[in-house]
Formats: sequence, C-alpha cells, structure tokens
Amino acid sequence: MSLEQQIGTATQPLRVAIIGAGPAGFYAAESLFKHTELNCQIDMFNRFPTPFGLVREGVAPDHQTIKSVTRIYDKIAENPKFRYFGNVTFGSDILLEDLQKYYDQIIFAFGAQSDRRMGIPGEDLLGSYPATIFVGWYNGHPDYWNLDFDLSCERVAVVGNGNVAMDVARILVTNPDELATTDICDYSLERLRQSKIKEVIMLGRRGPVQAAFTNPELKEFGELAGVDVIVHPADLELDETSQAALASDKNATRNVETLKKYLNREQTPEHRKIDMRFLVSPVEILGEDGKVKAVRLEKNRLVAQADGSVKAVGTGEYELIEVGMVFRSVGYKGVAVPGLPFDEKNGTIPNKAGRVYDPQTDQLVAGSYVVGWAKRGPSGIIGTNKPDSAATVASMVGDLLTLTPIPDENRDPELIVELLKVRKPDYITYAHWQLINRAEVERGVAQGRPRVKFTSVPEMLEALKQPDTV
Ligand code: NAP
Repeated sequence: MSLEQQIGTATQPLRVAIIGAGPAGFYAAESLFKHTELNCQIDMFNRFPTPFGLVREGVAPDHQTIKSVTRIYDKIAENPKFRYFGNVTFGSDILLEDLQKYYDQIIFAFGAQSDRRMGIPGEDLLGSYPATIFVGWYNGHPDYWNLDFDLSCERVAVVGNGNVAMDVARILVTNPDELATTDICDYSLERLRQSKIKEVIMLGRRGPVQAAFTNPELKEFGELAGVDVIVHPADLELDETSQAALASDKNATRNVETLKKYLNREQTPEHRKIDMRFLVSPVEILGEDGKVKAVRLEKNRLVAQADGSVKAVGTGEYELIEVGMVFRSVGYKGVAVPGLPFDEKNGTIPNKAGRVYDPQTDQLVAGSYVVGWAKRGPSGIIGTNKPDSAATVASMVGDLLTLTPIPDENRDPELIVELLKVRKPDYITYAHWQLINRAEVERGVAQGRPRVKFTSVPEMLEALKQPDTV
C-alpha cells in the first residue's frame, strides 16, 4: 500500500498528541515536521499554562544563555499544524481514552516528575529536602511557589555530585545582588538575601573521577565572587582504577585538573565556602526537635566491578558533621501514570526504541510512544533529547503501514477543542502563552532582568485577563 492511500496524507493527516511541553516533546514535534513526506497534525498538552518544562523550571537562573533554546521551540510552535493546550492535566482533564479516541499516535514526554529517595533514617526531617523541589522553588515551578526555605543556619549539606547538586550549591553561595539580575523568583531572592549560610558541604559518594558533574559547572565554582572552594588533598590521591579511567574520560581529567587548582588557592576567612568532600555516604540524618541537626557519614572506598563500573563501598569508618539543612540531590525519578506500564526501578515507561511496551503482556501498546526522561531516565543535557526524540519518531513513522487509524468520525481536530471547552475551559493556547511571556518580560525590563515570572497558575491566568496583556 502506498503512503498516498495511508494516514499521513493531505486528506488523512496523521493525528498526533504529545503529552508534555519540555524539550523532548518539542524535539519530537520538530522531528515529525521534518518528515516532509508525512502530513501530520500535532496537539501538545501541558500540565502548566507555561511550556518548556525543565528549561523554564529547572535550568538555573544564572544560566540564561541555556534558556535561549526556547527560540527553537517557538519556531516549531509557529507551524500551522501545531497546536498547544496548556493548563491541561493528563489523567484528569484529559484521559488516556480521550487521546486514544482522537489521535492515531500518542507521545508521552512528561519527564521525571519526582525525586529518588536515599532510604536512610532522618530523610524526612524538617530541613531535609529533595534538591529538585528547591530548584523548582527558586525557578517558579507552579507546584512549589508557596513553599518556604529557612536559610538561617550556617552550614548545609548537598548530597550528590551531579549538575543539579552543583546548581543548588552555587545558588546557595552566590551573592544575591548577582542573582537579582536573573529571572530567579523574587520570593527566593528575598530568602537568599536573608540567608545566614556560610558553608555548603558537597557530599560525593564516589571519587572526583566518578563525579557526574561537568567541568564548566566545576569551573564556575572558582569564579564565584566571595566564595572559596575547599578541596581535600587525600581525595585527589587517585586509586589505580580511577587513574586508569582518566585516559578515556576528558571530563574527569579536566575535573581533576580543576580540583588541583582549587587545592592551591588561598582561602579568605570571611568568604563563603563550598567544601567538596568525596568518598563519603550519608547513612543517617540526625535531628533535634524534628529538625535537621547533623548528618552521619560513612567513609567509602572504591571497588571496581566485573562490568567495568566502580562502586562505593562503606569502610565502617564514620564521622558526624553538624548541618542545619540537607539537600538530597541524588537524581530525579519518573512517576507511574494510570493505564501505562511502568518500570518502578528505573522510573521509566518500558519501551522498545520508543514504542511503549508492556512487560506483563509482552506486547507493545499500540499507538503509544515515549521520549525524553520518561523513556531513558533522568540523564543527559537538553540537546540529548533531540536524537532521542528523533529515534522514537523513526519508530512511529516505521509503524505507519501497520497502524490502526482512529475512525473517520473522530478525525476532526475541533472535537478535542470541544471536549476541552467542557473539561477545562481555561486551557491555554500558544498565543495565550506568548501574552504571558510578554507580560513577564515587560515586568523584568524595569528591573534590568530577563523576566519576572508568574509563579502560580492562578497568577498566570489572571495575567491574561489584564487589559494591557491582551
Ligand atoms: P545525576 O547527574 O545522575 O547525578 C546524581 C548524583 O547523585 C550522582 O553523583 C550520584 O552518584 C549521586 N547519588 C545517587 N544516589 C546516591 C546515594 N544514595 N547517595 C549518595 N549519592 C547518590 O543527576 P542530576 O544531578 O539530578 O542531573 C540530572 C541530569 O540533568 C543530568 O544528566 C545532568 O547532567 C543534567 N543537568 C545538567 C545541567 C547543566 O547542563 N548545567 C544542570 C542540571 C542538570 P553516583 O555517580 O555514585 O551514582
């Protein structure tokens, strides 16, 4: 059968729903549009009115250049065959069966909504927080705008050696006057101005060679005004396995070089400190009156595994450090969605080359696909999602000849709009988002900032009602 007689032609456009408006979702749309032999109509649904996922709600406010990637997403959204429905929650406002009724193919692009647990006593004491929530709070994530962080202690611990841990440590010690020129939330800036934090202790369970952070982020620590980076000489005495790993790992080599430079720097007593500890695992968070007071660490040694990886193994030697807060930055984790298979261990949707797969029935879930962190877990930079989404789209295109299309009576693109008008009358279009965007940018101009964000959904919707916005 030729493509002309198939779904994906001018008379029978392929109807695709994308759930989630982060980078992976946008790159999936881009990739579909790049298949110029294919005529497709894409509807993107997003829980919040504002699109862009972690580019808006995760990327640190002092990393503005990274956020300019949204211009690419704006271009994709300009395609007349693309529609955006924000402020629509999948699972309540719109259900899996609705999508299956109105779309030939569905792409799940909702990322990893939660955080990994450490599984140690004291993890839930007041003052112990997932870094992901703190990041959301200072970035105006609508789930966290009404939280508050008491930054009145002098020393905090950040657990983990990934780039999120680096972001959190940096934001905690950066001079608030510098952050005041970014799009950090006003309420966070105010708290950071009142902060008494003098020392951030970063706790890496493995050594500097195995650290997940990238070298530009480590170098940034050294460029922070009024901040000293403390490195311990013993941590740079590398074991044989780590030494050997350097030969094939440029990032680790650069990191070790950078850490050596920090070793030789002079400290200034009145500076804030980032103390980088390696080969230590928190085994307990201790509290007083229900609030974090200290963290007990076990020293680790590295043990090479048969598969070539390197594991941290406790030595039975312990140490107690007093801290007033703990930020657990040990990774994001996906959450299960009703109706879709879920891999509990990895927090992902099981898939084969992006095709959703149910291990229980050993069957593919027809018409369902997955991209981004929901597909591969919380790893990689924004750009990693581009080839990842293109690979899923290749599977979708490959499946077209065997696709069971939705019935003709359900193909009218207006049907979903009619449904939303009933289920979620205050849904947001891309044009609405652009009005919100313009209002945020205008609020920023007066203060010399890229934007001042609206942080709650009601505030965003209210902004659309203002005469100078519309
Ligand atoms: P990540 O890179 O996977 O780092 C997680 C860290 O947590 C690792 O150091 C890991 O150590 C540690 N960890 C895990 N379980 C632990 C435990 N039980 N005890 C102690 N430490 C534990 O995750 P992430 O920092 O959340 O970042 C997610 C992704 O976003 C990454 O790909 C990251 O590069 C990316 N990102 C990029 C930027 C940027 O480009 N500037 C900024 C933010 C995030 P092990 O290595 O020993 O497992």
